[in-house]
Amino acid sequence: MALVPMKQILDEAVKGNYGVGAYNVNNMEQIQGIMRAASETKSPVILQASRGALEYTNMYYIKYLVQAAVEDNPGIPISLHLDHGNSLQTCKEAIELGFTSVMIDGSLKEDSKTPTTFEENVKVTKEVVEYAHQFGVSVEGELGTLGGIEDGVGSGKVMLTDPDEAVRFIKLTGVDALALAIGTSHGAYKFKAKPTLAMDIINAVQAKLPGMPLVMHGSSSVPQELIEIINKYGGNMEKTMGVPMESIQEAIKRGIKKINVDTDGRLAMTGAVRKYLAEHPDAFDPRKYFGEAREAVYQSVKGKMEGFGTAGHAGEYEPLTLEDMKKLY
Ligand SMILES: [Zn+2]
Repeated sequence: MALVPMKQILDEAVKGNYGVGAYNVNNMEQIQGIMRAASETKSPVILQASRGALEYTNMYYIKYLVQAAVEDNPGIPISLHLDHGNSLQTCKEAIELGFTSVMIDGSLKEDSKTPTTFEENVKVTKEVVEYAHQFGVSVEGELGTLGGIEDGVGSGKVMLTDPDEAVRFIKLTGVDALALAIGTSHGAYKFKAKPTLAMDIINAVQAKLPGMPLVMHGSSSVPQELIEIINKYGGNMEKTMGVPMESIQEAIKRGIKKINVDTDGRLAMTGAVRKYLAEHPDAFDPRKYFGEAREAVYQSVKGKMEGFGTAGHAGEYEPLTLEDMKKLY
């Protein structure tokens, strides 16, 4: 099967009332770990690349690594999504490269730091939607800003999404999915204690636009055992907390269908590499420690696919192509 448009993966998740993880990827081992989890649990999956990932992989490597995942896993619907596109130009480049979905984060200016006005956000998002839909490519927008900074993205200030504005935004722009700011933040240092999220925002948007796929960014759980492994084997990470699985499950029930996870993959890989090298000071075969990192990603993602309810849904639908999507838009 070819790469699947993200809109289909999310529309199916709405029908089945489950969540789909969007996992950030930068290298082969990460992709393999995620795909092993998807294949074993029979889960549809969104692989997403940030601008940092595009730069790191010189674009072509990400394209062909994901292509390898598609060929290696013919029964799994996979979408390739641009995370936090900052301009129409960046989205065009991703579409050119074969991405089946793009995010335009019009909540921030092109510098990915300065918050925009509602009107500025609508303008750039609408431009991207008009462009992407010609190619059958799905579009995610964002309204409101998250806390934290990751991959250079973030204003550092939290502005929760206004539900009425969100409804207007969706109608004005025609986005296929919308990221809401409900109190989560990017990066590893999210919370000092268990967070309270503004879950009512999800219900308020769903009540007015039933079936609209909503997105939660900054949704890593930052498991304490991963922080402990890192610190036990020479790391020095401060005490921190993420979004607990129960909160994500609650959000999924209320209407969140795409859950962005980056930090947990990073923590899993870092812990595994540190542990292996600390326990095997004579080791110098990268396949050994990258193999451990791959295994750790697999374990982490498998748990999420089961927790989000994605498991078991891969074979339920006939995947659409971008050509099919062009006709539907
Ligand atoms: Zn994000």
